[in-house]
Amino acid sequence: MIHAVRMKQNASHDVEPIRYDWERAEAEALYDLPFADLMFRAQGIHRSHFDPNHVETASLLSIKTGGCPEDCGYCSQSAHYETGLKATKLMAQADVVATARRARDAGASRFCMAAAWRNPKDRDLDDVCDMVSAVKELGMETCATLGMLTPAQAARLREAGLDFYNHNVDTSPEFYDRIITTRTLQDRIATLAHVRDAGIKVCCGGIIGMGEGVEDRLGMLVLLANLPSHPESVPINLWNEVKGVPVNDTAERPDPIAIARLVAVARIMMPRSVVRLSAGRQYMTDELQALCFLAGANSIFIGDVLETGISRTSSSNKNMKSRSILI
Ligand code: SF4
Repeated sequence: MIHAVRMKQNASHDVEPIRYDWERAEAEALYDLPFADLMFRAQGIHRSHFDPNHVETASLLSIKTGGCPEDCGYCSQSAHYETGLKATKLMAQADVVATARRARDAGASRFCMAAAWRNPKDRDLDDVCDMVSAVKELGMETCATLGMLTPAQAARLREAGLDFYNHNVDTSPEFYDRIITTRTLQDRIATLAHVRDAGIKVCCGGIIGMGEGVEDRLGMLVLLANLPSHPESVPINLWNEVKGVPVNDTAERPDPIAIARLVAVARIMMPRSVVRLSAGRQYMTDELQALCFLAGANSIFIGDVLETGISRTSSSNKNMKSRSILI
């Protein structure tokens, strides 16, 4: 059921509405605010819901790489494109746990396990459930991204201790068919519902810089903000350059201020969601990352391998040793 407007008490505003009925024109009006006004508004909302000096850290491991039957036009792991990526089998549990332990010791509080599948087979899910339980025992939050799920598979992952499931909408409804043809946006929304119904928190965002317009980026935010519940985490990925995929021919990197504006609009429209700077941060200067934190981003990946390619942490983030980063 679509919730209309929920009212939330908070410290700095008497009543802050949490909305699920955003119009595209409203998102555009926010995006077009004078920059200082937009940042001020986003920062005020950020402060009313989060500790403004805390940034969550997460680490991601590809537990099964390449050979994916989906045709996501941005992805090095799709079997539809010649990207030179070597497909691998599902990693052994001991190796996954050892990597998670290293990530925890390096400061990550959440560990995400990513597999390049259209959807997991039940026998693969047995292995992933064991991995989830073992990582949970390290005291970390767990996240997985495995493709589409049935309700029963989502329930099994929850039982194993999965905290978050990542499944992105990727882009706006209008641009979606230009990027993926092997599964529909509705397929994705159905998986998000199964995840939510199983009691798993939702991590859902998208990718910018694939050749979409600002209207598509805002359309993606409107789509996310009008889901039955806002995703608990909203990753914003900047497309990682990958040779051999169709997006390589259309990609256009957004300018830095456009990225900061988008983060600010995400913060305003989804006030209680954690907004994560995900893949593509190697294209962002430390100054731009700081600007995005001021605009309301409050999570970053500190791992190396992300789903759309290989992402290296920036120089400043390599040195993170604690679970919270003071900025
Ligand atoms: S993004 Fe995921 S589903 Fe799409 S091709 Fe890559 S691994 Fe497969």
